[in-house]
Amino acid sequence: MTSINLLGHDAGRLIEYFASIGEKPFRAKQVERWIHRAGVADFAAMTDLAKTLREKLIAGATVLGPRVLSDATAADGTRKWLLNVGAGNGIEAVFIPETNRGTLCVSSQAGCALDCKFCSTGKQGFNRNLTTAEIIGQLWHANRALAASGYAQLGERAVTNVVMMGMGEPLLNYEAVLPALQLMLDDNAYGLSRRRVTVSTSGIVPLIDRLGEDCPVALAVSLHAPNDRLRDELMPINRKYPLRELLAACRRYLAFAPRNFITFEYVMLAGVNDSDQHADELIRLLADVPAKVNLIPFNPFPRAGFVRSPPDRIHRFNERLNAAELLTTTRKTRGDDIDAACGQLAGQVEDRTRRADRWARANA
Ligand code: SAH
Ligand code: SF4
Repeated sequence: MTSINLLGHDAGRLIEYFASIGEKPFRAKQVERWIHRAGVADFAAMTDLAKTLREKLIAGATVLGPRVLSDATAADGTRKWLLNVGAGNGIEAVFIPETNRGTLCVSSQAGCALDCKFCSTGKQGFNRNLTTAEIIGQLWHANRALAASGYAQLGERAVTNVVMMGMGEPLLNYEAVLPALQLMLDDNAYGLSRRRVTVSTSGIVPLIDRLGEDCPVALAVSLHAPNDRLRDELMPINRKYPLRELLAACRRYLAFAPRNFITFEYVMLAGVNDSDQHADELIRLLADVPAKVNLIPFNPFPRAGFVRSPPDRIHRFNERLNAAELLTTTRKTRGDDIDAACGQLAGQVEDRTRRADRWARANA
């Protein structure tokens, strides 16, 4: 008999599973707490369950976390895990410790189909969607690993914030991401507040609306250009969902959002999108959206074809937006020495061109 991995079951699915083995809903809640709050994978150790139930679970189910391929800690404390998701694919999860919080950057797909020109995940192409177990497994694993190495945050679990800013486009893996978000919020699992869970998207308009209805968490939108002409070039998805539609979706989202603004991410690419004119255009574009802008110094990777804007250019761009009362901050780059920064999360996704070559050879 194949056993079912309960790691990716949200509360509703756990209740269904327990019903299917003739058990009451409160048992589902107990097991959910063991798995996610206590980080326990072994049913035999779930001491408040009846022995017969423990035996039933051991026979029919598992709690299977990700297999770790590598684990690196940067000089600044940033820690990155490369996790095996099978078939030669690795995805990455990154923990960023700060004074009063610990943020985990979570991946949603192996690779990404959207081909943003400045993104190393995009350069690899798309391999596959992660399952809910693989998505929540990153958080489950990080809390366990950080606890084991003695890292505790205010006596609580190490991860206090989650950002879906790792590899992949979370809204294009909606069916698996939604239950993972629900587990992050669930008091019987991670109990994070909606403001501490952020979905970052390149702007999949209809799914921004769905997220607002199903599970409104904090929203970050990857903008990166102040007009359609440039955004079409940098982010091909803009041809499908242009700025006017994207910003309208952002305004609609605010009716549900846990915060009264949308975060806009803007990667600083020297000579491409970083002039005073671009800043002014951005100010006009965001005039009627309650917004915070987060400038991200571009993180270079081999053959990227872009250069990071110089620090004084980033500073002046930031100041110009602030002077227009567009609240703006510049992201500190973290974990540089272990390639753990945004857009460097390359994992080990098999290159699609290599795959295509192999397929062609095999079928020659
Ligand atoms: N697919 C989602 C989330 C993952 S990317 C999205 O695009 O929003 C997380 C953030 O890193 C996005 O804002 C993305 O545009 C940005 N990013 C990608 N490549 C980068 C790079 N090389 N340097 C800096 N930021 C980058
Ligand atoms: Fe995909 Fe986001 Fe990278 Fe664009 S920036 S290719 S949407 S992961």
